[in-house]
Amino acid sequence: MSTISSETAGLLALCNAHRPMQVLAAEDNPVFQSMLKTMLTRWGYEAVMARDGNEAWNILQRDDAPRLAVLDWMMPGVDGLEICRRIRSANREPYIYILLLTARTESQDLIEGMDAGADDYLTKPFNAHELRVRIRAGRRILDLQEELLQAREALREQATYDGLTGLLNRTNILEKLDDELARATRSGSAVSVLMVDLDRFKSVNDTQGHLTGDAVLREAASRLRSASRRYDAVGRYGGEEFLVVLPGCEASAARVQAERLREAIADIPFRADSRPLPMTCSIGLACSTHCAPEALIRGADDALYLAKAQGRNCVVVHAEKVTA
Ligand code: GH3
Ligand code: MG
Ligand code: MG
Ligand code: MG
Repeated sequence: MSTISSETAGLLALCNAHRPMQVLAAEDNPVFQSMLKTMLTRWGYEAVMARDGNEAWNILQRDDAPRLAVLDWMMPGVDGLEICRRIRSANREPYIYILLLTARTESQDLIEGMDAGADDYLTKPFNAHELRVRIRAGRRILDLQEELLQAREALREQATYDGLTGLLNRTNILEKLDDELARATRSGSAVSVLMVDLDRFKSVNDTQGHLTGDAVLREAASRLRSASRRYDAVGRYGGEEFLVVLPGCEASAARVQAERLREAIADIPFRADSRPLPMTCSIGLACSTHCAPEALIRGADDALYLAKAQGRNCVVVHAEKVTA
């Protein structure tokens, strides 16, 4: 069964926002088939019909599969019970709510059906009102699940990105550095890091106010992101300090990239209250093929300190390859 990215799921949700909810009705008996279709349509659902288990299974594997399925237990091909089992073992998201229809009435059958992963169970011949309210109950569960997924996604965003700038936050840029160093140690390639610090940023806060300071940080982050290569990671390390991780990048190439970032900040003045606000940054660079992340960051920090001492708005490369 295919899984879809949260981005695709979001787009699909948007496209489907004004569409009636789809309900799959899998039933091999033509009389029940047409009853189900008529009822579902009358109740405002889009009925997606399947005449046997194979057809139902194929429909459920689509990316835009209905999220609520009314499955007949006894069908040619794959039966309803087997479809339940397959759906649950694929453990896919979003959740598919399954209502099993059957002529079987023994409580042992009910147990078997629910055990296979059905959420609810209705015996045939069923009462139309009962089916309607049970579908509505299923829908409520799906709505709740959707809210949960959205809340989880929002939490994940908060835990990954910096709220002000939208860059990776400190934890995540450091994790990225860990990963890249581990990979470099295995492959023998280099990793470079840039510690980028805005020059005299405190005076922006002092003279223009904290809100303008925030806007400058957002703009600086956006410029750094745009001037970076696709495979480099940019994060907010602290207040007005940014950490850039350049995988597979020797010091000479990293220096060129650091100059690009420095120019991206310095070449065009920022704006505050419609007036130009010149900004610059200083960058410390360190490079290694195998060292602890802390050592690489210390190297970049030392180089940044020298860049500040040399008058700011410049790039300084840590003297030697960091090895410890
Ligand atoms: P230097 O050139 O030596 O780096 O000087 P600087 O003024 O940039 O450095 P300093 O460390 O003295 O000041 C950094 C300032 O950044 C101090 C702090 O108030 C400000 N800052 C940190 N985080 C934020 C933030 O989220 N928003 C705003 N507006 N300011 C912040
Ligand atoms: Mg049947
Ligand atoms: Mg600074
Ligand atoms: Mg600083």
